[in-house]
This record gives sequence, C-alpha cells and structure tokens, in this order.
Amino acid sequence: MSDKIISKDNIKNWIDALMQSHTVVAPMPRNEAPAEFRELASGDEPIIDGSQTMMSPKDYLLPRYETLFKVNVGKNGTSVESAVPEVRPTVMLGMWLPDAQAIKVLDRVFLDDKFNDPYYAARRENTVLVAVMPAEKRWSWFCNSVDDVEAWKASVDVLMYDIGEKFYVEGQSAKGEEILTGSFFGEPTEADTIARNQVWDKFAKCDKLPFAGKALYENLAWEDPIWDEIAQKCIACGMCSYMCPSCSCFDIQDETCGSCIERYRCRDTCQFDDFTLMGAGHNPRNNQVPRSRQRLLHKFKYQHEQFGVVGCTGCGRCVELCPVNVDIRDVLTRTCSNERAEESVES
Ligand code: SF4
Ligand code: SF4
Repeated sequence: MSDKIISKDNIKNWIDALMQSHTVVAPMPRNEAPAEFRELASGDEPIIDGSQTMMSPKDYLLPRYETLFKVNVGKNGTSVESAVPEVRPTVMLGMWLPDAQAIKVLDRVFLDDKFNDPYYAARRENTVLVAVMPAEKRWSWFCNSVDDVEAWKASVDVLMYDIGEKFYVEGQSAKGEEILTGSFFGEPTEADTIARNQVWDKFAKCDKLPFAGKALYENLAWEDPIWDEIAQKCIACGMCSYMCPSCSCFDIQDETCGSCIERYRCRDTCQFDDFTLMGAGHNPRNNQVPRSRQRLLHKFKYQHEQFGVVGCTGCGRCVELCPVNVDIRDVLTRTCSNERAEESVES
C-alpha cells in the first residue's frame, strides 16, 4: 500500500469526485446541534478534521428510528411493503479511528453469520471507511488503555492524519486504495512522515490508565459494591448508551397509520427499567443495581467472550456526557486496580 498526501484545500474536490460514483457520508454541522453523519448533497461542506463528533457514525448505519416494513390493509387485501434500503456504494468519511473500530463491534452483532440484519447490511456491506486522526487529543479519550490501538488500523480502508495544511493518507485495504486516485494526491515528504508519526504517537502513546493491559473480562465481578454506588447516582437517562458508538440495543414496536401498520425499531438501553420487563410483569433487572452492572459486564466481559472484542473503544463520550458524572475510567480503575486485587486476596 502506498502513502499519499492531500492538501486540505483539495478535500472538497476529492469529495466531489467521489460523489460521482458513491454516496458520501460525513459529519455535517447543524445550527445549534452537534454535527451529525449524513449523506452529503452537492455543495455541502462537511467537517473533516478528525475531531470527534459527539454524534457517532452509528447514527447513519443504525438510525435512531427506522421503519422495518409496512403492512397495508386495503379493499383488495393486505400487502407487506419492505423497507430494506437500497444503497449505492458508499464512502463514510471523517470519523476518527476508535469510531471505526466501534463499527467493527456493531458488525459482530448485525453481520453475524446466523443473524444477518438486512437493514444494517444494506448500508454497511458496500461501504468504504475513511478515518481521520486529529492533530490534538481530546481530554476524555482513553482508547490506548482498553485495547491495542495499532490493531485498529485494520478496521478502516483509509486512514488520514491531520498534519497541518494537509492530510497524510494511508490506504489500508484494496477497497481503500481504489478511492485514492486522481491529481488531488501527491507524494509525502520525509517531513510529512515525521508529522504523521507525531500525530499517531499523541494518540497511541499517551499516558495509560491503571487498568490498561489487564484482562478486564476477568477482573469485573458480578458481586461488587461499585454497582450499588453507580446505581445511587444514576438517573437512568440512557445518554451513555444512546451516544456510545458501539452500543447496539434496540426495541421493536408497531404503529398504526390509517390503513397501514408500520413496524419500526428505535434505540433502547439496558439502563431503562422496562428493558428487561417481560410480558407477564416479571423484571429480572428490577432496580438500577443490576442495570449498572450489565452495561459494564456486557462491554468488557460478555462481548469479549462472545465475539473476542471489547465493546468499548475509549471514546470518552459517556465520560463527557453523563449528567451525574459516572466516569467509566474511574469504575474500571477501581475494579481492576492492583490494590483492589490485593484487598480481595487478603479478605
Ligand atoms: S467510552 Fe463510553 S461511550 Fe465511548 S465506547 Fe466506551 S462505553 Fe461507549
Ligand atoms: S449517562 Fe449517567 S445517569 Fe445516564 S444512564 Fe448513563 S450512567 Fe446513568
């Protein structure tokens, strides 16, 4: 794979060229709201600077609300109308690397051999992922404490690094190489390569937290007073999982609309009291303690056991957005610290 550079002035021209053959999805600014990943229209000016958008690329691949099918009831009988989207080849551009890794986590759920989700697959399977590494680190990131971030490069087709007036561009797959053509791209100089390495090191070699490198799936325990502690503070707003780039839970509901019935799915979260409520009224997680435990164990233990991946990429969104300051970094530090391990050995 060959490395290239592209000047920031040329990004718009490159996107225009890509739009001839692909749908291009990228973070678009909105008036008073955070930028959101959506399909670009001609003339749109997306934000391509590698800074983390609060709204993650999940919003495009797994919409917050999605019609699955409609049942039309008419004089001539009943018909079912599929709502599986028809999607052109797509380039998703402008997410940062951990959000691309989070898409790999979603793939394990929705592109499973046994349970392939046609709605997710339609958007995902013909999609080229282009990630951008920002020039500066955000305070809440702890990616290199949860996983080997070097391995995440295999999650994208193209990786770009913000090195000032231009981007350093690496094709990571054959699919990625195919979209790196045209006069927009040039050869990197030695100084560009040094700048690329500096951007990477700021991300990959920043200070690690005390739980880094520990087998989190072994350290997180079912019985732990920390779940009570979180539950005392948590107001079950669901923000941490709604905004998480790798959380995938949804609910399915039916809605009548005149002469049709629409089946749709929408986001759901294990933090809500009715998430595990059964039809007969029993709720196995009937208070916030097991719900708080579920979120952490699912991300760091169950997903690891089921798919061999960690369900958290350390993006820091839940750290920044939780209204009562439940800090996942603190929870992991306390549940996995050496001091704690020693305490449990002594007790
Ligand atoms: S830091 Fe929080 S929001 Fe980000 S991936 Fe991990 S659990 Fe999800
Ligand atoms: S964001 Fe905070 S308060 Fe809201 S559900 Fe998550 S842990 Fe609870």
